[in-house]
Amino acid sequence: MYTDIHCHLNLNDYSSIDELIKNCRADGVDVIVTAGYDVQSSETCRQIAEWYDGVYFTAGLHPTELEHCTFSDLAKIEELCSHPKCIAVGETGLDYHYPNTDKPRQHQFFKAQLELAGRLGMPVQIHSRDCAGDTLDFLRENAALLSNGFLLHCYSYSPEMTADFLSLGAYFSFGGTSTYRRSKKPRRSIQAIPLERLLTETDSPYLSPASLFGQFPNTPRSIPEITASMAEIKGVGEKELCYAVRDNAKRLFPKIK
Ligand SMILES: [Zn+2]
Repeated sequence: MYTDIHCHLNLNDYSSIDELIKNCRADGVDVIVTAGYDVQSSETCRQIAEWYDGVYFTAGLHPTELEHCTFSDLAKIEELCSHPKCIAVGETGLDYHYPNTDKPRQHQFFKAQLELAGRLGMPVQIHSRDCAGDTLDFLRENAALLSNGFLLHCYSYSPEMTADFLSLGAYFSFGGTSTYRRSKKPRRSIQAIPLERLLTETDSPYLSPASLFGQFPNTPRSIPEITASMAEIKGVGEKELCYAVRDNAKRLFPKIK
């Protein structure tokens, strides 16, 4: 009944994916979306999704991976998108975190992937770091391409801005960062966002929750802790939150069964 809507089951980070999936199922984490960030990882994600029931994938080019990406990669992403278990285009987006960011290139690839999503009638998983205003402007300008919905994964901007994103139809997911009592921003954002737009993720192997502070790799098995924390912040039962998240996941990503 638990949902991890965004993680990276990179084969190199885990000694046994088989073991990991088995443990996830035992914990009740039975829908897992492993997100591609370039062509190769998207293909690996497809492979893993084909191996296991309940595992889905996304195909896309991440803004900090563009140095080794080309425009011809977009054709391969498009091909992967037609797979029955490819639930979204992504992750794509903008990331101004590092110095010497090639912003025009990020904008070009982001736009191209939104166009792809628009053309294929697919939702999008969006990564956005240290560029709240530009992301909002970009999504407003391209609202016509977002009619199949989009997820802001690991939402890290202000609770006040959630209203702007909500009006564009955004869904929001939160991971381990939100389980730390000192992370005021994500916790206030969770309060501000209606239950029917919230999702849970781990972004594994990154962003371990409070109980695994500093540990690598994080796994989708952290979802129960993230769910419990989110339920507490929202003031709803854990079960109620699980069902709401699952409904939201299916509504936004119709290929999830
Ligand atoms: Zn990610």
